[in-house]
Amino acid sequence: MIVILKKNAEQQQVELFDSWLHNMGLETHMSVGENHTIVGLVGDTSQVDIESIMALDIVETVKRIQEPYKNANRKFHEADTVITLPGGAKIGGGHFLVMAGPCSVETEEQIISVAQAVKAAGAQVLRGGAFKPRTSPYAFQGLHEEGIRLLLKAREATGLPIVTEIMDAQHLPLFEEIDIIQVGARNMQNFELLKQLGKLHKPVLIKRGMANTLQELLMSAEYVMAGGNDQVILCERGIRTFETATRNTMDLSVIPVLHQLSHLPVVVDPSHATGRYQLVAPMALGATACGADGLIIEVHNDPEHALCDGPQSLRPEKFADMMAKVRAIRPYSDHSFTTGQAVLDGGAGNG
Ligand code: PEP
Ligand code: MN
Repeated sequence: MIVILKKNAEQQQVELFDSWLHNMGLETHMSVGENHTIVGLVGDTSQVDIESIMALDIVETVKRIQEPYKNANRKFHEADTVITLPGGAKIGGGHFLVMAGPCSVETEEQIISVAQAVKAAGAQVLRGGAFKPRTSPYAFQGLHEEGIRLLLKAREATGLPIVTEIMDAQHLPLFEEIDIIQVGARNMQNFELLKQLGKLHKPVLIKRGMANTLQELLMSAEYVMAGGNDQVILCERGIRTFETATRNTMDLSVIPVLHQLSHLPVVVDPSHATGRYQLVAPMALGATACGADGLIIEVHNDPEHALCDGPQSLRPEKFADMMAKVRAIRPYSDHSFTTGQAVLDGGAGNG
């Protein structure tokens, strides 16, 4: 349920209203927008009498929200969420963020040289897996603790914040210094893991599971947000379909759809979505033009010998080339670019 307050509602009355709701056992989520203040009610609202809320002086209107996700819902929070990383880079609300690096951390030399190369090409975040979810138990599983140590070394060398995947909540102590924690496609519905990440105060990037709907993705975001962590980034990385020409099928329409449904930033991973390096730049450009808030791209200095996902990794030169084209479509911070709010406003109408 959401309650939209009148423009001239007095602060004191708003606070009284808020504590009245809390006394009924409801959590509230206050979103102060340019035009009005929205109070989102989370919890069992079935007993709440809409009429008595409507009767209050400060209330403009009351609506029940049908969607099961509340905190992640655009109706709860009109403005785009903007997440600021250590060092100042931002994502969301017109800020565009590129994360790049190898699928997995292999050696100190590899991660530092790739970090320097992606930084020079304009990436603002370094990616690299230390814990790898591999289909085969015999495949390289990542360097684990040592991989995290090398990522932090690369951050020290370049100043780039780090995004890396967590597979087990028991590993959380190792992630204390990590800037963005990634939940991989295979763990999108690991609810106990999501609950633990909800207790943190750092950004969580959730990848869409390969057979999950957007509503399920938003419910996973809701798990993190319900715990009190509202710094969630959604990631489209392709889904499993009958098509075999690409590793997965990348659906660009999810970008405006997610922007309409949610205020959270949306990034696209064309590397895992296509599985082939030749397709990465075209799909990255497509995603950028469709209004994605960022990209996550696999880059390797020696893709032929990569321990994981070589065929979909760009060489640094190719990545730099792609970045120049991305920038031509989308400067890093351009508030006039189509954000979720613009999608909501309609623009082209419904004809
Ligand atoms: C990755 O980012 O390296 C990864 C394993 O991605 P996904 O979870 O999307 O397969
Ligand atoms: Mn990978």
